[in-house]
Amino acid sequence: MGWEHSPGDRGSEWHEGYLVAEFEDGLRAFGISGSGIPSGQLAVDQHGDGTWGQDAVRRHGGDAAFQTRPAGEVVGWRVACNCYGPGDSLPSTRWFSQQLWTRVPSPVRHAPSAFRIFAADDDVLDVAMSEDVSTAGHSVWWNEHINHIDAEAAIKAALAVIRSGEDQLAGAVIQARARKMSWAKIGAAAQMSAQSAHERWAQRAREASS
Ligand SMILES: [Zn+2]
Repeated sequence: MGWEHSPGDRGSEWHEGYLVAEFEDGLRAFGISGSGIPSGQLAVDQHGDGTWGQDAVRRHGGDAAFQTRPAGEVVGWRVACNCYGPGDSLPSTRWFSQQLWTRVPSPVRHAPSAFRIFAADDDVLDVAMSEDVSTAGHSVWWNEHINHIDAEAAIKAALAVIRSGEDQLAGAVIQARARKMSWAKIGAAAQMSAQSAHERWAQRAREASS
């Protein structure tokens, strides 16, 4: 029904993006039909976390019944993503686009790339499958969510390399101090002044030797 992405280098993390129909008060519809939902009605994600039926009972108590609303009350669509961390069987987080595709009353104004969608009440869920809507949704999902996740992961990975290098450097300085090397020599090796070297590592060296 939507789009999938696995970053590849972070275990079994994966993302499942799709469009959800939204009502005026911000509640969203599930992409489900049947299951006793009357014709012309949509099941509502009343807990806001994508759970319904027995899954909702497990997480929120109550009974398995869910609310429904008339499809005519849908005001637009947003991109959602179920974000699964490594080992998750249920998504650990859900992401929603800031961007809302507004529901317009006439097919003439239908322009998914300009964030306007026309859908008859019977097509509110199915509209996400049409190619122009899917293309526009995928583009927002990819640019505002997936790209950011990958960029964020790249920054975190680079930072981890720096931290690890800093630890290695401090360890080497502590070794040097244990061998009675002067701060001047340590500074020279680390391409800084004796004073800078002392300021940076003297306390750790003292703690290590005590
Ligand atoms: Zn995601």
